[in-house]
Amino acid sequence: MTSITFHGGVNDIGGNKFLVRDKNTTLLMDFGMSFSEEGQFFSQFMGARGSNALTDMFELGILPKIKGMYRRDYAKHVGFGGDEETEVDGVLLTHAHVDHCAYIPYLRPDIPIYCSEESKLIMQNFDETGTDQYLTMKEKFKIYENKKGEISRAIGDKVKIPRVIKTFQSGEKFNIDSINVNPLPVDHSLPSVHAFILETSQGMIGNTADLRFHGRRSKILKSLLMYVIELMRKRSSHNVIA
Ligand SMILES: [Zn+2]
Repeated sequence: MTSITFHGGVNDIGGNKFLVRDKNTTLLMDFGMSFSEEGQFFSQFMGARGSNALTDMFELGILPKIKGMYRRDYAKHVGFGGDEETEVDGVLLTHAHVDHCAYIPYLRPDIPIYCSEESKLIMQNFDETGTDQYLTMKEKFKIYENKKGEISRAIGDKVKIPRVIKTFQSGEKFNIDSINVNPLPVDHSLPSVHAFILETSQGMIGNTADLRFHGRRSKILKSLLMYVIELMRKRSSHNVIA
């Protein structure tokens, strides 16, 4: 059985969080912030609380309550499990605009993020110029042994855990367990945006990402359109034979 659950991005601009299940594979396509949802409760200097952020985001209906998905330190701190295994096999990131990626810092660092090299560099920039934790998670409430051999409680940046980042190339297919992924470039207001065609056990799923038909690289949309047209041709010929 294959299913898609939309935890955001419906009747909204951005906030995409699409959960795809196929056989034993579970993927997220994007994990972004909805400006309209956050705008109802937060403003520039008033956001979710730091370590209690999950409680705030769950209560306000901004993040889905799915156990095993969120970083263990936050989950344990707010009594939302944290010891269970994760079901999520990866996040497919279309691009690094915050309405598609802003909640990645809440995820467990061992959930692989599949993205383009350019998206990785943009998220690295977020980390290096602010307090974000896209590529490196800074674990809280950690007891560790310092250089003097003393037991200490981690504060600040003491315990850093790199996330698993897997970069893909445009047009080069790859598998995540039972799902075959084809990342096709589209043009947008940010470099290296990718649509995804997912081949699941029960058919194809297409996610166009954010795209535009104008601009310097609008012609790259052709590769996506040609691929979709070819798929439709194959499908119609199959239907005729059937
Ligand atoms: Zn965008």
